[in-house]
Amino acid sequence: SIPVIAIDGPTASGKGTVAQRVAARLGFHYLDSGALYRLTALSALRKGIDLGAEHALAKLAAALPCSFQGEHILLGQEDVTAAIRAEEVGNAASQIAILTPVRKALYGLQLGCRKAPGLVADGRDMGTVIFPHARLKVFLTASAEARAERRYKQLIDKGFSASMDDLLKDLQARDARDSQREVAPLKPAEGANVLDTSDMTADQAVEQVLSWFAV
Ligand code: C5P
Repeated sequence: SIPVIAIDGPTASGKGTVAQRVAARLGFHYLDSGALYRLTALSALRKGIDLGAEHALAKLAAALPCSFQGEHILLGQEDVTAAIRAEEVGNAASQIAILTPVRKALYGLQLGCRKAPGLVADGRDMGTVIFPHARLKVFLTASAEARAERRYKQLIDKGFSASMDDLLKDLQARDARDSQREVAPLKPAEGANVLDTSDMTADQAVEQVLSWFAV
């Protein structure tokens, strides 16, 4: 059957970078599931839909006109690759992610990404909910400080302004929301390999994941 590598972890743990590089090394497809929540959130913010209006949001998620073209993410005709990375959008994404109808609306879209020769999927519930039979499950973590620093660099690189203090606070709030929510809480999946990347480079983490996969 088509192999899946599920990589879950808290915000800014490096899972996006690691998952993308692992996918490239293996020639596998890549699913950034967080982008789906971010796209739904961006679309809701623009349309002025209340972030608690679960049925309106689920409808929006189910009909999301998104497409992935290499590194670019489109909403309709518009390239929103940078726009969905804004902190405001990330925060809105984590608010709508607690809504079961929204999660259900995005379920089929995610399953459909499993295509030959294989898939590397990153998110919060790849190993616990979406791909419970994944060939390999990895839970990537890093200290809150290490993650805030990474996010800071990412944002500055992308031309956003940022403050370390605000980022650390946002990150801790988002961690709490992601791990304490009732639906698909963030936690290591059964059988997951836990990898703390606080003192690792992305490439070292990639090598570790590849060697686990090769076993
Ligand atoms: O990973 P990223 O920061 O892009 O995800 C944005 C938000 O979407 C997360 O804070 C989380 O609340 C939500 N999310 C989720 N399940 C996933 C991926 C993301 O709930 N599989």
